[in-house]
Amino acid sequence: MERAFADEIESLKLGEGETFRGEGILAVTKALLQSGVSYVGGYQGAPVSHLLDVMVQARDYMEELGVHVEACTNEAAAAAMLGASISYPVRGAVTWKSIVGTNVAADALSYLSTAGVMGGALIIAGEDYGEGASVALERTHAFALKSQLWMLDPRPDLPAIVRMVEKGFELSEASSTPVIVDLRIRACHVQGEFAARANRAAALSTRHRGAAAGFDYERLSHPPATFRQEKHKVEVRLPAARRFIAEHRLNETFAGDLDGVGIIVQGGLYNNLQRALQMLGLADPFGASRVPILALNVVYPLVPEEIVAFCAGKRAVLVLEEGQPEFIEQDIATTLRRRDQVAEGTSGTPTKLHGKDLMQMAGEYSAELMVQGLQKFFAQYEPQLDLAHGARWLSNVAGIRKQAAELLGAPLPARPPNFCIGCPERPVFAALKIAERTTGRPHISGDIGCHAFATFEPFSMGNSILGYGMSLASAAAVGPMMAKRPLAVMGDGGFWHNGLLSGVASSLLNKGDAVLVVMKNGYASATGTQELISSPPKEARDASGKSTAHADRTIENALAGLGVRWVKTVHTYHVAEMQKTLTEALTTDEGGLKVIVAEGECQLERQRRARPETARALAAGERTVRVKYGVDEDTCTGDHSCIRLSGCPTLTVKDNPDPLRRDPVATVIEGCVGCGLCGENAHAATLCPSFYRAEVIQNPTLLDRALRSLRNLVVPA
Ligand code: SF4
Ligand code: SF4
Repeated sequence: MERAFADEIESLKLGEGETFRGEGILAVTKALLQSGVSYVGGYQGAPVSHLLDVMVQARDYMEELGVHVEACTNEAAAAAMLGASISYPVRGAVTWKSIVGTNVAADALSYLSTAGVMGGALIIAGEDYGEGASVALERTHAFALKSQLWMLDPRPDLPAIVRMVEKGFELSEASSTPVIVDLRIRACHVQGEFAARANRAAALSTRHRGAAAGFDYERLSHPPATFRQEKHKVEVRLPAARRFIAEHRLNETFAGDLDGVGIIVQGGLYNNLQRALQMLGLADPFGASRVPILALNVVYPLVPEEIVAFCAGKRAVLVLEEGQPEFIEQDIATTLRRRDQVAEGTSGTPTKLHGKDLMQMAGEYSAELMVQGLQKFFAQYEPQLDLAHGARWLSNVAGIRKQAAELLGAPLPARPPNFCIGCPERPVFAALKIAERTTGRPHISGDIGCHAFATFEPFSMGNSILGYGMSLASAAAVGPMMAKRPLAVMGDGGFWHNGLLSGVASSLLNKGDAVLVVMKNGYASATGTQELISSPPKEARDASGKSTAHADRTIENALAGLGVRWVKTVHTYHVAEMQKTLTEALTTDEGGLKVIVAEGECQLERQRRARPETARALAAGERTVRVKYGVDEDTCTGDHSCIRLSGCPTLTVKDNPDPLRRDPVATVIEGCVGCGLCGENAHAATLCPSFYRAEVIQNPTLLDRALRSLRNLVVPA
């Protein structure tokens, strides 16, 4: 696991009135326990990984409270867990990264929302949108509208977030509808504090078990019940939700003296708006704004009466809604248009509505962009305002950017992410690059996971990425049209998430002829090295710092069980063998699916385990050996083919020490973990003989010292 959460687990135990300090997503975790959840599930992914990781690590405490925690194999499985709240008055929550996770969960969510729930059901969705996003930029909001799931978008402030989680359960129960708590990246990681309440043990839990519910056809999302359920959604549940939202004041109105105008903002954008108003001289650093604000902590459903009341008497209102399409703005426009009569009755003329006409349609709404949009809005409706401070701030920001560009002399080079130093997946792409010299480049279907770094230099491999575990499925239509057999890559995380069924079973059913490389590094590494069904056994891992991924053959057994005949397991660092196997898979006359299980434990996880062990051994005065690779600068030709084949950040260049040669030479810098790829590449690709392998011995024995003295006689130190 990426991180140990010992301190965070202690803060989950805080009692009534004690102060919780920490980040937003951990506050959500505490709020779930304060709300008396019976079960929590999910699939990890930024920015909500920590919720599930903490719960998994806090298993003992969860057992004490009677909370069932399930690390699901995908988001569909997590969404299906909420089915427990359909028939029982139990509260439950699931979590995943959105939009990707919501896509996967969509089937179960449709049926869940149709049936409706008895116990509060929350979906904590990590909205991975904006400049830091790692997925396709779409809005979870669309799913909320489609399935009529209520959606909260809390202000990034710990007390507000905690209140929304607690009220979210109540809203779900009051309207028999699952609720999405949409948490943006900044809301998940915002730091703060709140006064904790005591955790509540649920009446029905793993400690207090109950009887199975009686049969009730109306609780099944199955026709003809579904016809009645659809009507019930709009005629009963929606009005009930709106009543609850209004009565409990889930949305917040902030007054201001410029009451001829107003801003309606998604709760999650509230902090950026405050910053923008502050830069314009229209708010103080503590959040007091001169402009009235309606912060929508609930973005679906909107409460028409609240919208009308806020707009009453205002000449114009600006809607700040990040992403597209502009669902909220359209909703508000419909409400205002239908109630022109109301607006006219209070102000004489209908309130003018602005939003995407003044703000950019797509992308993250930074404070800078908001200042620009607000300038246009105020210029039209409050022209007397002195906004010079905002203009100066914008020009300062632009000036700093310009100055930085001038100092650099050129735009900053792109710095895409890369495989970790010593990553076991890098050698597979090196081997593929060498194999392509004879096979030519096949169509390569990429996937989600660390191996997607191969789409960057120096490999630039991958023709598509269509979802987690979907690479083999996305090669299905390509293969029959290509002269060369296509190749699909997926991780072991993707294999279990979706790849086994969507890819392997489908290929077998359709007698596909493709090559699949499964990166068996032992964990769902890209999301923080969470465990999989095929993770190496813990005992073996704890005993030594060596890779023990060989210890598990669950993937190979599953493939054999489905009937895949051509399966070869190859250690990733054996580049020559990997190259030979790839060549064979791509060129053999044998039809059908060919799977290469590329085995090599995630280096991050391995180092995490090895480092404390090495530190302990050093402290105890024990002999330790560290392997390092290096380049003999006298032999290096300076053609850098080794770098083009590896891309390891610790294999880089330095000035040529030979005054007669100008090309920089390759060099290995501090940080090399001695994975061995440099030597393997040099051998497999018949590169120049510049690489050497060195052993750094600490706490040497008498024999080590004697050997060194002997060597020094022939090789000067
Ligand atoms: S986390 Fe593991 S698998 Fe992912 S890039 Fe790093 S070493 Fe490779
Ligand atoms: S041996 Fe080469 S590839 Fe491996 S960590 Fe060292 S420099 Fe990087």
